[in-house]
Amino acid sequence: MSADIVLKNATVITMDETQPSAEAVAISGDRILAVGGNVSMESVTGTKTRVIDCRGRAVAPGFNDAHLHLFSLMRKLMSIDLSPAAVGSIADIKEAVRHRAEKTPPGTWINGTDYNEFYLAEGRCPTRRDLDEAAPRHPVVLAHRSLHACVLNSPALELAGIGMETPEPPGARIERDLTTGEPNGLLFEMLSFIRSEVMPPFSGAELDEAFDMVDRHFLSNGITSFQEATYRNDRSRWQIFRRYGEAGKLKSRVSMMAGPETRREFQEDGMITGSGDNRLRLGAVKIMLGESAGQNELKQPELNRLVLDCHQSGFQLAFHAITQSSVEAAIEALEYVNNRSPVTGRRHRIEHCSECPPRLLERLKRLGAVIVTHPSTIYYNGERYLATVDPKQLPWLYRVKSPLESGVVVAAASDAPVVPVNPLAGIYGAVTRKAESGQVLLPEEAVSPGQALALYTVNAAYASFEEGIKGSLAPGKLADMVVLSGDPTRVPPERIMDIKVEMTIIGGRVVWEG
Ligand SMILES: [Zn+2]
Repeated sequence: MSADIVLKNATVITMDETQPSAEAVAISGDRILAVGGNVSMESVTGTKTRVIDCRGRAVAPGFNDAHLHLFSLMRKLMSIDLSPAAVGSIADIKEAVRHRAEKTPPGTWINGTDYNEFYLAEGRCPTRRDLDEAAPRHPVVLAHRSLHACVLNSPALELAGIGMETPEPPGARIERDLTTGEPNGLLFEMLSFIRSEVMPPFSGAELDEAFDMVDRHFLSNGITSFQEATYRNDRSRWQIFRRYGEAGKLKSRVSMMAGPETRREFQEDGMITGSGDNRLRLGAVKIMLGESAGQNELKQPELNRLVLDCHQSGFQLAFHAITQSSVEAAIEALEYVNNRSPVTGRRHRIEHCSECPPRLLERLKRLGAVIVTHPSTIYYNGERYLATVDPKQLPWLYRVKSPLESGVVVAAASDAPVVPVNPLAGIYGAVTRKAESGQVLLPEEAVSPGQALALYTVNAAYASFEEGIKGSLAPGKLADMVVLSGDPTRVPPERIMDIKVEMTIIGGRVVWEG
């Protein structure tokens, strides 16, 4: 049998314990045909085989981002970049908004993201008046870098029904002029309400453009699979993923979570975790715990019953749990279930698990739970954590080495658009524990480059029950892989982020070349 593609002269990092390294990989159809030495590939190289000479470059399994939010990421990619790298003042922001307004039909929403008043020359947030001057005929919303605040102009406030008389919504705040009481445009903890309830969903043309952007974004970052973690995901989202996937406009493979309510739509169709195919698969039921807006806080007994019901219906669970008390609530629910029906082997997941002290880690281990962590936030946000996180919690923040050593499976994710998807930033963060500023967060939690790579490959596949088909390079597995300009397991750690994704292959097709 001859291969369709042979990658040779490569440093192949297989992530497969039975054959950790190799020189070449052969692909037939959408599967890996063989992994081995250059010479061994001669027998599968025919006249029609495309031979790719990797000239010593590294080949690794494609990256799997175990937790992100696709529609929010698409919004971000479609928005005006107002990060400190792009703008230095409110005057710059107004200019950028004015420029976008000129190209946008009046009445259409204009989005900006990532402003941070700390880095603006004026040292303050923009207001509705600033934005009214720039775009009086378009509703405008600018999201703060933290996503905890946003600024709306007058047309946007009107569409949101926010005026002088509007009372403070629970858990949120409308900032007002101290003398007149008029909202000044700055809203706290209301961004997801504005985006989901006030702004219209993407139009067909916007959706086409957004998928085009996000598809290229993933492939250029080597993301061959991702896990969609939005609890609002429902049947209609599933259809969108299906439609764009089949049209070849979303090439990365998707495992899509649902919420406690929306999972019923899938259940009615006889679908549970694992239903679907290699392109689109139903993931866990996502349960929001703690301070998260948009969903009512569940009392422990209600949570226990909900978790038991989902578990017994055949669903994996994924708990959004950031604080120690949220992680503990998830553990208590799983222990409640475990007393009735064993949970080990069901791979219930703790998403974020940001604060995880030893006593909780021990309980997670006994439950066979999986931690989905965010090492790239160490790089992008580490400085802020060091400055703002309660010193009592700091020793337990985004630990990776301790859970791995205790036998808990840890997978990595960007939580994009919270931070960029870039998996190499995550590998760098996991290996060095260094923030962009160079400050170090819990150096004792640093892992080896091989372990860091596992977080984004085999372990991420394990988190969605897919390690049998992806996450490592071995015969019979899906031919999803990346060619990297350098070997992350061999370059000095400080050079990991210089590594470029040079080629992305999904299902045996070269879908991106840099
Ligand atoms: Zn998330």
